[in-house]
Amino acid sequence: MIETETNWIARLTSRIQRRLSSSSLVVATCGSVISFIMVGLCGVVLYQSRQDALDHTRDTLQDIAVIAQRDIERNLELYELSLQAVVDGLQQPDVMALAPRLRREILFDRAASAKYLGSMLVLDAAGNIIIDSANDEPRQGNFADRQYFIVQRDNPDAGLYISDPFFSRLRGGSPSIGLSRRISHPDGSFAGIVLLAVNIEYFHNLFAGLSLGPHGSMSLIGNDGVMIMRQPYDPHVIGRNIKGASTFQRFLSAPEGSFSDTASIDGTRRLYWFANSPHAPLIIMVAAAEQDIYATWRRRALTIGSLMIVFGAAFIALSVLLGAQLRRRMRAESELQLLARTDGLTGLNNRRSLGEILDQEWRRAKRTRSALSLLFVDIDWFKAYNDTYGHQTGDDALATVAQCISASIRRPADTAARYGGEEFVVVLPDTHASGASEIAEKIRCAIFERGIEHAGSAYGRITAGIGAVSWEPQLEDNLTAVIKAADEALYNAKATGRNKVAQSGLT
Ligand code: GH3
Ligand code: MG
Ligand code: MG
Repeated sequence: MIETETNWIARLTSRIQRRLSSSSLVVATCGSVISFIMVGLCGVVLYQSRQDALDHTRDTLQDIAVIAQRDIERNLELYELSLQAVVDGLQQPDVMALAPRLRREILFDRAASAKYLGSMLVLDAAGNIIIDSANDEPRQGNFADRQYFIVQRDNPDAGLYISDPFFSRLRGGSPSIGLSRRISHPDGSFAGIVLLAVNIEYFHNLFAGLSLGPHGSMSLIGNDGVMIMRQPYDPHVIGRNIKGASTFQRFLSAPEGSFSDTASIDGTRRLYWFANSPHAPLIIMVAAAEQDIYATWRRRALTIGSLMIVFGAAFIALSVLLGAQLRRRMRAESELQLLARTDGLTGLNNRRSLGEILDQEWRRAKRTRSALSLLFVDIDWFKAYNDTYGHQTGDDALATVAQCISASIRRPADTAARYGGEEFVVVLPDTHASGASEIAEKIRCAIFERGIEHAGSAYGRITAGIGAVSWEPQLEDNLTAVIKAADEALYNAKATGRNKVAQSGLT
């Protein structure tokens, strides 16, 4: 095999290699980019579904708060009407003059017997019970120390007052809140109060019927910060003042709203919805724990996310494999292409490739109006060499001569090819007669100086005759004429003693 291939082949090979590595890199890069985009999109969708879970929970919390608030307000309204009816009745002397049972039936309507309603009492200015909704003979009791009594006594404009939770003395200590109204003498001085005690069991049952997830919570808080009811229920929390808690401060900041915070009572992070009652000094707060809100989403995100990462990685791996496969395939194709253009014995361009190169250079020379030179190299008395040394030695000699030819051409555009048998062609683009003659002489000397023994030659060694032609193609010229001229020059070289360079052409 020839050590140095022609420059043309080297150029083709490096171009193909560049194309190979760039296209396989493009496939692998595209695969990776697509995969990253897919994983990214999946991430965006998962993030949005997380937001949806939050939004959905916020809506649910708001609905629950509205349901609870309406129920509480409706009951409070009924209780207020009952209280007002008692206050009005107390002003009427004929009602007050009735027998206790009749008076009780007129003063306390049916609301007084409603579920969760502890008792309705009329207290005098000293805090003693004077009329009792439950008995004709009022129970014994003084409530002058109660917060609701003090507020009504000291404040003529208190109106309907909802007290903090207290433990009822008449009903075995059951936790209650008191709704009260002031009774005034005609001159405005304090005459006592009407009290309606509501068992906080009512709020407990109301909250228990509303589902908030395993770690959710719901509270009814007075706007002074006192906890009236909290779900999950803990008797110790009832009556506690949470005025200082960060969450409570936010309840006061707007009529209603939502925020996320960590509860001071149990340290759980929750999404809150709160609403200040427009008709009563009460705040209703509904909260769902973030761990419950995202539980379903987290499971789904884990499954989809890990599947997406696995598929993404598999896609990248496949793209890299595809790129490598493409590279191997293109390399095999380029090797085949190279083989199809190369002469197996000498490693030079074969005749087919020579045809293409000649055609291309001829057109270029015409276009650029430059000179094109051709050298026809033919080994002298080669038939005799084969006959003397054998066909195998003849092949070796052919390869050595090809080597001498390639080593003598240095310009990138110069090309050498095996034309057939022991004949070679050298294409020298943009080369005038003097340059062509110089290179031809160089080749002739290189072959001569190799000194391959040839007993049948007049020179005792292998030599070659070279016909050189240089042409500046005109529009009407054709390549066949140039080849014919080169052939004629070669004939002259042979005819005038061989081991010679003979020139033909005009340039
Ligand atoms: P001239 O000096 O006039 O060129 O005489 P010549 O003998 O070289 O020319 P001719 O065309 O009569 O003979 C060419 C010979 O080249 C014929 C054949 O033995 C030999 N030949 C052609 N192709 C090959 C080949 O691939 N291998 C070998 N070993 N010999 C070849
Ligand atoms: Mg020949
Ligand atoms: Mg010959």
